[in-house]
Amino acid sequence: MARRIVVANQKGGVGKTTTSVNLAASLAVMEKRVLLVDFDPQGNASSGLGFYPGDKRENIYSVLFEPKNVGKAIYKTDIPFLDILPGTQDLVGAEIELVDKLGREYYLRDLLMGVDAEYEYILIDCPPSLGLLTVNALCAASELLVPLQCEYYALEGIAQLLMTYELVRKRLNADLGILGVVLTMYDSRNRLSWQVKNEVRKAFPQHLFETIIPRNVRLSEAPSFGKPVIDYDIKSRGAEAYLALAQEVAKSTTGRA
Ligand code: ADP
Ligand code: MG
Repeated sequence: MARRIVVANQKGGVGKTTTSVNLAASLAVMEKRVLLVDFDPQGNASSGLGFYPGDKRENIYSVLFEPKNVGKAIYKTDIPFLDILPGTQDLVGAEIELVDKLGREYYLRDLLMGVDAEYEYILIDCPPSLGLLTVNALCAASELLVPLQCEYYALEGIAQLLMTYELVRKRLNADLGILGVVLTMYDSRNRLSWQVKNEVRKAFPQHLFETIIPRNVRLSEAPSFGKPVIDYDIKSRGAEAYLALAQEVAKSTTGRA
């Protein structure tokens, strides 16, 4: 089975997509076979790799209710070993269509089952909510990765995320464990970043990744070139950080909260 990692946090702008894209690309650099699944209607993970909505291609929405076609919606990227299942704004509709389906939490899991054997890692980027799309992603995954932005309200909302995680684990997906919490947009000159780090370390003593992602302008520039940072500027601190995170992830086993 592939290690299936869901990148979730219901807050927007905390680094979910940046982490999904760059962790996926960094694992691919290590010659792991990786599939990046863009399950956010905003499609930022897709455009970050040069796949734009409106392209008349198959995408995650077009195959969600026809899992046998999943292979048609998977594309090779410019990074060897990295494939993508692109997102689309049509996913907004999927969330509504799923509501009255039987087994509505398991559509993404069933979709990915068809390609699981082809990958070592499947990473799922989530929308900024705890709605049915995120629940589908939690049900499709074996490991939860939570990016936390180093800002004043970093821990706000985390209790709710963990509660959802516990509920999913109890009722819907007993295989789900916590891979870890990764701090993003860390600014070592900023006292607040340092305080947040200590607070998060106290809250998640066993689950905080050693690697901390710094605030780095290369990370924010790379998506506009449709590239992960390792392809845009491999020498940047952002690239270094995500390569280190990939090493840590590859070594880790999932703990249970
Ligand atoms: P989310 O997917 O959680 O909404 P994003 O990954 O899209 O968050 O990040 C939000 C914004 O912050 C984006 O413009 C992104 O380019 C930028 N960003 C994310 N991580 C970093 C970082 N480490 N350094 C600088 N900018 C970052
Ligand atoms: Mg995002």
